[in-house]
Amino acid sequence: MQQSYPPTMDRVEKEIAFHLEKNNTLAPAFAVYKSILAVQLKYLDKVEVAGKKSADEIKDCFRNEKYLLAEQKPVLDGVLFREVLASVAGAIREASPEAPEALRNLPELDEFNADNIDEFIQQVICFNKQEMEAFIEKKEMDKRAALDSEVIAFVIFMSLSPFISRMMQEVEAGVGFSLWRQGYCPICGQTAFMAKHRSEDGARVLECWLCHAQWVFPRLECPYCDNKEQKKLRFFYVPGDKSRQVHVCEECKSYLKTVDAKAMQKDVILEVEGIATGRLDLLAEQEGYRPPARAPLLH
Ligand SMILES: [Zn+2]
Ligand SMILES: [Zn+2]
Repeated sequence: MQQSYPPTMDRVEKEIAFHLEKNNTLAPAFAVYKSILAVQLKYLDKVEVAGKKSADEIKDCFRNEKYLLAEQKPVLDGVLFREVLASVAGAIREASPEAPEALRNLPELDEFNADNIDEFIQQVICFNKQEMEAFIEKKEMDKRAALDSEVIAFVIFMSLSPFISRMMQEVEAGVGFSLWRQGYCPICGQTAFMAKHRSEDGARVLECWLCHAQWVFPRLECPYCDNKEQKKLRFFYVPGDKSRQVHVCEECKSYLKTVDAKAMQKDVILEVEGIATGRLDLLAEQEGYRPPARAPLLH
């Protein structure tokens, strides 16, 4: 089976060049994305995750609608995590002239030293964005690091990503995700941030923003509230770009950006598409819809 993640850097470069030709103001965002991705790819093959479940245990989890990390938190190499964190912080500083200088000192926080790091990872590994930011503020990590909680949370998530992606790859190659029927990630429980209609058959595929798991979800159903009433599901797009759509649910007022790769007759990298379609987020929010990260979740 072909692996969905990671994309090759060559392909990423090509997709980015395509978008930059149409809109050069995206250059700073893509520079940061590429720089972080390079760090993640470098570590993806180096990380090991202990505490693996058997194929049957994983299938049981999926059949019982439990994502993997909820059942058993993996044990990561904390010292290696800190190294990744320092590299991610450095990559952001290198790629962005506007990045805060204080990022340099972020790895020095007490939470990340060898005595505390393992416990810290166990505490935060299942957090969503809001929970991570609230935790950082409660522990005053933001004050001690002189950085916004949102920035610290972002660096932590980007550093967790190669570890969780590694787990995802092993599950994808072994059990796969055909048993999974939820709107959140089968591996880490994070919300799907984007979807595509698969180029080969048009099936809707959701992708997790953290570990990049991809799984099929019915097209005529809201992934956030399970609404199946067709009258309350619709989509819109910007004239001239019919393949990049915003699917909205009138029941829970959430939206999901969706790329119709079948109509485009080519595969896409959803993370690149996510950055390139910022305008669709603005339009959706102006119309009163919530982005996936703030959608109410069932689990
Ligand atoms: Zn995930
Ligand atoms: Zn809904």
